[in-house]
Amino acid sequence: MRTDEWLNETMYQIWEDHFSDIPRKNVVVIRFSKKSSRQLGAISWLRNKTKKIDKLIKDHGPADDPKVTLIVITSYFKDLAIPDYVVKGTIAHELCHYAHGFSSPLKQLYEHPHKGGVIRKEMLKRGLGDIYKESKIWLRANWRNYILASRKSW
Ligand SMILES: [Zn+2]
Repeated sequence: MRTDEWLNETMYQIWEDHFSDIPRKNVVVIRFSKKSSRQLGAISWLRNKTKKIDKLIKDHGPADDPKVTLIVITSYFKDLAIPDYVVKGTIAHELCHYAHGFSSPLKQLYEHPHKGGVIRKEMLKRGLGDIYKESKIWLRANWRNYILASRKSW
């Protein structure tokens, strides 16, 4: 099973490899949330800080912005049956929102987070085109059945 720690390491690897021009101006927390079949990932401002997050903020050192960004990923993606590139594609999607100034201290670049294919364009520009395409293909081919099967097995 994938863990929150895996998510964190993977996010920072993607950041380093593909978003190194995007400053990390605040603390960004990523974790698995509930099992959602429709919303695979989401980015928001963190409202309630836990002790664990207080510690993260302390370890992070002084940030330019004290607000914390929270990225959540559906808990279905803990399952290793979901390919890495699908999870990475979802994390990268949320990092594009961060780069565009949504739920981040950066300047907001667009009026709407998705209109005009801005995520796809951003992913292509950043060398994430393969991950973008492959994950879309995998989800289109498998996601429905995966969800149906996982519900049956309960
Ligand atoms: Zn989005």
